[in-house]
Amino acid sequence: MTKIKYQTVTGMHDVFGREQLLYDKVEETAQKIADFYAFQRINTPILEDQDLFIRSVGESTDIVEKEMFTLKTKGKDLLVLRPEGTAPVFRAYLENGMQSLPQPVKLWYYGPFFRYERPQAGRYRQFWQIGFEMLGDASPVLDAQTILIAYNLLSELGFKKTIVNINSIGCEECRKDYRKALLSFLRGKKESICSDCKRRAEKNVLRVLDCKNPKCQQILSEAPQVLDYLCPDCKNHFKQVLEFLEEIPVPYKLNPFLVRGLDYYCRTVFEIGFEDSPEEEAIGSILGGGRYDFLGKSLKTDIVPSVGFSMGVERVIALMKLKDIDSKPKKKEGIFIVQVGDLAKRKALKMIQDFRTAKINVFEAISKNSMKLQLTKANKLAINTVLIIGQQEALNNTVIIKDMITGNQSTVKQENIVKEVKKRIK
Ligand code: AMP
Repeated sequence: MTKIKYQTVTGMHDVFGREQLLYDKVEETAQKIADFYAFQRINTPILEDQDLFIRSVGESTDIVEKEMFTLKTKGKDLLVLRPEGTAPVFRAYLENGMQSLPQPVKLWYYGPFFRYERPQAGRYRQFWQIGFEMLGDASPVLDAQTILIAYNLLSELGFKKTIVNINSIGCEECRKDYRKALLSFLRGKKESICSDCKRRAEKNVLRVLDCKNPKCQQILSEAPQVLDYLCPDCKNHFKQVLEFLEEIPVPYKLNPFLVRGLDYYCRTVFEIGFEDSPEEEAIGSILGGGRYDFLGKSLKTDIVPSVGFSMGVERVIALMKLKDIDSKPKKKEGIFIVQVGDLAKRKALKMIQDFRTAKINVFEAISKNSMKLQLTKANKLAINTVLIIGQQEALNNTVIIKDMITGNQSTVKQENIVKEVKKRIK
């Protein structure tokens, strides 16, 4: 019989062991930040209506044009594996009547997202994102606070030298004039820009500014800047956001060509990265966000001014490894139970249950019989307190308690062991 080898699907990967510890660390850090700023966690379904993303992210974006995993159900509905988190959170906010709650409603999420991209370093077809969203409030102070939360999240994860790249892309009104100016600038450059840019210029000219082609970037450095076209309201909003950032202070750099790849953004857009980090250049941006006051309009539903950001967990973890940030496993707190023989196994199984009730972590290798092997495992886990139940102890109803640092050991009655361990752990 030939053996069939199954592998993960292209662009997707298993997460386990040391790698999973890093995912846990990122999640725990985000949870702490969320608790501090009073964000509630939200879990939306993995599948959503295709239309939700076409209308919100935008028809001419890479996500909608080429990257959605779409499936047709037996009932002939067109569903997609969610490619991003903002539109689903926005849908959930409206669908669950969160407009009637005190505003802004502050929600955060952590979960897998899917984009049919060409797999390469930092680019997967299933990747994890953490996102924070504040819905239902247009105040510029919230743009600044969103940026601060993102900045704090990266700082808590160990990235100390980050910089916020920021821009305002205005509202629909001011963008009309800017679009015209950009189009007329590009008209004279048609022969020199790449074929993607030619296509984007026709469909959604702002997306041209996103182009990573060095030749296009050179040409675009002379293009008109959106900041010169902002209407008085948008200008004032952006001025206030920058003033708030200066007050904190959070280091920022104006980037007049930052537009971000999704159509729903308006006014403030930002990305946080590092100055001169070749590693980051190789894997792509780690965190980005902005305001999306008119997402509701694109969905032909209520207009809800909102702001948020999302962070790519794989990219953050890749950088944590490269920069050697706290990737060592946490020291395990608790005890290790070593047992030898069937009677000892029975006693150990019961003892584990007693420690569970007492909320003390227990590590063990209960299916094994070799004392040496079990002690090696305890050593590897760097556990200081080891309990040993040999054949003799099992018969006497005793247990040896060993301090792995000093090597001292004593014998305790099994009925007193939880009390004794509690004393020592404290
Ligand atoms: P976006 O929704 O495109 O702004 O993406 C938000 C963040 O998700 C980015 O800054 C990346 O860190 C991460 N990200 C986006 N696409 C991918 C991908 N294909 N693989 C891994 N991470 C991604």
